[in-house]
Amino acid sequence: MRSPVEDVVDSSVSLAGLGLSRRDLLARGSALVGGLGLLPWLGGCATLPVEPPTPTAELPWEELRRSLSGPLLRPGDRAYLARALPWNRRYARTRPAGIAVCQKAEDVQASLRWARKYEVPLVVRSGGHSYAGYSTTEGLMLDVSSMNGVSFDPATGRATVGGGARNANVYASLRPLQRAVTHGRCLGVGVAGLVLGGGIGFNMRLHGLTCDGLVATEMVLASGERVICDRDRNADLFWASRGAGGGNYGIHTSFTFETFSVPEITVFSLQWTTALEDVFGTLLALLPRTPNRLGAKVSVNITPDGALSVNLLGQLVGPPSELRSLLEPAYAVAKPTTEQVSVKPYWDGQTFLSEEGCPEYSHESSRFGYKDLPSAAVATIFSYLRRWPGTSIGADWKSFLVGGTVNDKGRDETAYVHRGAIHLTSIEVEWNAEDAPDRVAENLAWQAEFHEAMGAYTSNEAFQNFIDPVQKDYLRAYYAENLEQLVEIKRRHDPGNVFRYPQSIPVRL
Ligand SMILES: Cc1cc2nc3c(=O)[nH]c(=O)nc-3n(C[C@H](O)[C@H](O)[C@H](O)COP(=O)(O)OP(=O)(O)OC[C@H]3O[C@@H](n4cnc5c(N)ncnc54)[C@H](O)[C@@H]3O)c2cc1C
Repeated sequence: MRSPVEDVVDSSVSLAGLGLSRRDLLARGSALVGGLGLLPWLGGCATLPVEPPTPTAELPWEELRRSLSGPLLRPGDRAYLARALPWNRRYARTRPAGIAVCQKAEDVQASLRWARKYEVPLVVRSGGHSYAGYSTTEGLMLDVSSMNGVSFDPATGRATVGGGARNANVYASLRPLQRAVTHGRCLGVGVAGLVLGGGIGFNMRLHGLTCDGLVATEMVLASGERVICDRDRNADLFWASRGAGGGNYGIHTSFTFETFSVPEITVFSLQWTTALEDVFGTLLALLPRTPNRLGAKVSVNITPDGALSVNLLGQLVGPPSELRSLLEPAYAVAKPTTEQVSVKPYWDGQTFLSEEGCPEYSHESSRFGYKDLPSAAVATIFSYLRRWPGTSIGADWKSFLVGGTVNDKGRDETAYVHRGAIHLTSIEVEWNAEDAPDRVAENLAWQAEFHEAMGAYTSNEAFQNFIDPVQKDYLRAYYAENLEQLVEIKRRHDPGNVFRYPQSIPVRL
């Protein structure tokens, strides 16, 4: 019997897991059957089965098992399911034929060698939080999450983080040192996914993106070679790793970051339930003009009972009195309904701000904003949210305050191109397994229309870390004018397109 989590699943998952488009499959189906010997359902691929059988064929799994220092998990193994499931449960039905639990770079190399030898599609997973389930596959998953050590060099102030570390590992290691990097709020997000797509966090306006603090990374290339990338060595890959690296160029086995010391901060969580449009418009206008010491996310949320609220969450390197004076125009419109403001040592402040990030069903679509959002944008946001079709969980429109130090770099200095933006906006819908597929479809259609409507006020650039399976012209949206250079680097280092998924950087445009 299928579990409830398996019932509401995007029908594209079986293709997504292979890193192939439908057209690819139709064109290459029979060749793949011959080459892989593990996907018999592709033969004569006129129609695609909705639920392909888990591929279990006669691959020499023992050969792979013997070459690993960690376990190789197959469907049915006790530890298999926990590692197979992605954070976004929409994609939970795509299950790997095997999971190589890599404990060191040599395991990564051995897994890659084996997958290439037997032409098995592969993906790498660290935190498993890809919004689009792009670290799932029906081939071989290289699970690097056990490579999660963090070491600190007091002489340089640099921290080296394993390729599979999560935010939680970084928190735990840097907390006693009273140091930090720019990081997200969700404990389970992988540092690899975070930094390779840029990495936003409440420190970014003061210290830059996560990728701006990256000074070196070690990776295993498609050839199996293990290389260090920094400003002097493999500089092209180092450039690509700062904003376009996730799953595109190789498997990263470590990252070295500059760290910074952390002061006491004021953390805050404010909610308004009255004068919503006015408060929200006021916040949107004032936030980009605040000092870089402020990090914030402002959102309009709607709950299943139809209740709307405006929420402001963040941190200030400064006292509560300064926060109060920065937000005075919003207070003048309406007093928050709930207000939590406290001064804390930095890492205690992160405990206040962080979230577990439990697995869920969700879809997110983003747009970068380079200009202030006019009152017409505020009206559009409320108009759509008031027409939300509804799920059991909720929906929101949110804006992360970017800019500051993030915009000190030029658009082509790193692969992360969205320098100059002041807002990273996004529409999120969440649901659960009990919500009927029709209702989910209605929500996704509403979200797509809402996303389209916001194009009048924001750019067409989207955040590669909020990777969106239905994003139009996704390569341009994520990489804009840096795309051609990224494709050239791809061709240079992965000409056979070993590292691929539905929205990966191609070898040619
Ligand atoms: C709850 C939640 C909170 C989030 N908060 C933030 C935030 O605060 N800031 C922010 O910038 N983003 C945030 N994100 C987005 C997040 O950064 C991306 O989803 C990121 O890709 C997740 O990385 P991961 O390692 O957890 O995911 P995975 O699913 O493991 O990987 C994501 C992609 O990177 C590839 N990849 C993973 N590991 C490696 C590796 N070692 N080498 C090469 N490629 C690899 C995968 O194959 C996949 O394509 C959040 C996402 C969620 C779900």
